Amino acid sequence: MSLLASAAVNDVGESHGFDSPYRCCLCGHVLPYHPAFTADVNCPKCGSLLWCVRRDNGSEVVLEVVPGRTPSVEEIESLSRVLRTDEIVPRVIVDLSGLDLINSALVAMLVLLNKRIHAAAGTLRLSGLNEVVREIFFRFKLDSLFEIVEFKPAPPARCS
Ligand SMILES: [Zn+2]
Repeated sequence: MSLLASAAVNDVGESHGFDSPYRCCLCGHVLPYHPAFTADVNCPKCGSLLWCVRRDNGSEVVLEVVPGRTPSVEEIESLSRVLRTDEIVPRVIVDLSGLDLINSALVAMLVLLNKRIHAAAGTLRLSGLNEVVREIFFRFKLDSLFEIVEFKPAPPARCS
């Protein structure tokens, strides 16, 4: 029943070219919808909180933070484990463009994730900050801890 339903969704998505680009940040399960538009807060496959969704951006992992959800320390630890297994050197972009505001609990979790990624010699960059969110990072003097970038497409791969 559910298999048939998801096959049908995939067929429709393929024929119209809107196959969902959103994946669970933890298990990679393809989500049929963006979690900001549903009351379901957990991944249907692994059951973890969908506080962010994962998109592919060539060489980098883009994590789009869903408004109104704050991960726990355990969720950050699981995510950083997954990122370190997937990539030899994790290159992560945290997309905050969905947020109007950011609370200090989420900021603390991003600080922890940043620490974990750096420990694996990886990079974590923040993008899509609006003026309010940016101001909060400056006020807590976190702009020196994080690399904050304007969101733009990944530069073409360089062959040297
Ligand atoms: Zn999942």
